[in-house]
Amino acid sequence: MLSAPLPANEAERLQALESLEILDTPADPYLDAVTRLARDLFGVKTALISLIDTDRQWFKSRQGLDVAETPRSVSFCGHAILQSEPMVVEDSHRDSRFCDNPLVQSAPHVRFYAGHPLFDAQHQALGTLCLLDPATRRLKRKELLQLRDLAYLVQGYLQLRQRAHQADQLRDALDREQRKGMLDPLTQLWNRAGLLHFLPLEQAVAERSGLQVGLIYCDLDHFKRVNDEHGHDAGDHVLWESARRMSAAVRPQDVVTRNGGEEFVILALVHDEQGLLQVAERIRLAIAEQPMTVDDAQLQQTASLGCTLLGSGENSTVALKRADQALYRAKHGGRNRTELAPSPH
Ligand code: GH3
Ligand code: MG
Ligand code: MG
Repeated sequence: MLSAPLPANEAERLQALESLEILDTPADPYLDAVTRLARDLFGVKTALISLIDTDRQWFKSRQGLDVAETPRSVSFCGHAILQSEPMVVEDSHRDSRFCDNPLVQSAPHVRFYAGHPLFDAQHQALGTLCLLDPATRRLKRKELLQLRDLAYLVQGYLQLRQRAHQADQLRDALDREQRKGMLDPLTQLWNRAGLLHFLPLEQAVAERSGLQVGLIYCDLDHFKRVNDEHGHDAGDHVLWESARRMSAAVRPQDVVTRNGGEEFVILALVHDEQGLLQVAERIRLAIAEQPMTVDDAQLQQTASLGCTLLGSGENSTVALKRADQALYRAKHGGRNRTELAPSPH
């Protein structure tokens, strides 16, 4: 196996990646839409947005792969970022660089690889948009152009995101190690530590902007049955898919967190209770309206939600408890529904 050499400008490249403040951040529904589309368009098992960090490749978006990162030394993408054109390996078994690579010899058994490099505005290579499949494959010229267009969209989005992010100092207050400790590896959402970090920040923004912080508790219904009937991996997949649907259902500035188990807490800045109920209902419908595909089965998953507004100056623990009690009422009212706890203020 041949590990990729480091690019000549590696130090500047890592600096550019660091300045994006994107490593160890939650999955992004817009980027997930691109990888989902790529996977369907090319009919491959896996599509990824892979970022090449010092000694690992970390996946900002992944479809069809269960791990959040793999070592850089075995990565195909480490090779792909050395060039401007896409790198295509039609059959890894016939490529001396990869034939004895652990990703080829064992799961995910990569046979076909196509990776298009992603560059920042200064043309520093950040990573790739890549396709993997356990079967050999040849891309037609038209398909290479389609991959290029998708990569172009990702690149444009990353560049715009960086500019928007620079203007929004709120989320930038965390360094990478802190972010890492606040990320739930299974769902790629913020975890409970993230929730507790963002709550006071959202409260401050709400006060500045004349809005209110809405708290939404969302708990999957009868989730234990999914594990019992389809196995723990299927359960994990439903958690992953629910997380993607929730993130896509809310607005970009809303904060989606996994509070633990199959319970999620969402922070949404809203004008009033009506606005809060709308966000909660969008989340409920996003989960319920289409079955989830697990292996070959179609699972009809629903969720119950409880929500409340955090009063101005109110202790957030008290408000969280109120939302949790509303969730309890939603469960007892028959599930797959939203209950609002009126704020005492
Ligand atoms: P209810 O509608 O009342 O919420 O019923 P429920 O079955 O969803 O709730 P219950 O609290 O009885 O069960 C939650 C289950 O979630 C039990 C636990 O095994 C499962 N669970 C928690 N965390 C994970 C996880 O990370 N992965 C998987 N697969 N299951 C998990
Ligand atoms: Mg539950
Ligand atoms: Mg629960």
